[in-house]
Amino acid sequence: MILIKTKNEIDYIRESCQIVADTLKLVSTYAKVGVTTLELDKIAEDFIRSNNSIPAFKGYSQAGSIDFPGTLCTSVESEVVHGIPSNRVLVDGEVLSIDVGVIKNKYYGDSAVSIAIGEISDEKKQLMKVTEEALYKGIEASVEGNRFGDISYAIEEHVNQYGYGIVRELCGHGVGRYLHEDPQIPNFGKSNSGPKIKNGMTFAIEPMINLGTHAVRVEKDGWTVKTADNSTSAHFEHTVAIINGKPEILTSR
Ligand code: MG
Ligand code: MG
Repeated sequence: MILIKTKNEIDYIRESCQIVADTLKLVSTYAKVGVTTLELDKIAEDFIRSNNSIPAFKGYSQAGSIDFPGTLCTSVESEVVHGIPSNRVLVDGEVLSIDVGVIKNKYYGDSAVSIAIGEISDEKKQLMKVTEEALYKGIEASVEGNRFGDISYAIEEHVNQYGYGIVRELCGHGVGRYLHEDPQIPNFGKSNSGPKIKNGMTFAIEPMINLGTHAVRVEKDGWTVKTADNSTSAHFEHTVAIINGKPEILTSR
């Protein structure tokens, strides 16, 4: 069931989303060659807690794996999503995807960004650019009267022009009282399909796009999703609310 939020609820979600956006902004300034993903994680956790909020991913449980240990998901290069912060040092030329969720006043916010570490290749620059553009295509399609399939279709249409792989196993989702609510929003699909988009809906759109094929596998840690062909991957995500028929980006930086 897709929950319709009241104005009050959207205000709470907006507040959580703004802390998410500020966290990504802050962490991005520290994400440089020579820094470890665990150092970034500490910066994020301290910032979130200092804003009287809770890191939403930390302790998140999933059948068959340990509770997620990080505040951030830090996914480097061929890691698509759910990378665990570690002592791994960031190297020049890498793509780092940072995903973060926050709970404040019992409501969630969720957003992700891919950033370049040092100087990256033109091929990776284009991957990042197209993935972010695809996110905005999905957001543009998020208007009252459209259906969720229109979001999926807009993303797929854009990405297909470049021949990249669209990850199929993971997708966008409703956000609010829970980190993952209905509906699921795949990054590929048919236009004019799925539930109707209505005022008061709040959801995250998050294309995960690979330089190579769409195939992914999960690492032994039970969390880290990697491209099957070891190609580089990018991930951009915003939480939006439908207000007066149009999408408001709640996690805008
Ligand atoms: Mg999400
Ligand atoms: Mg996320």
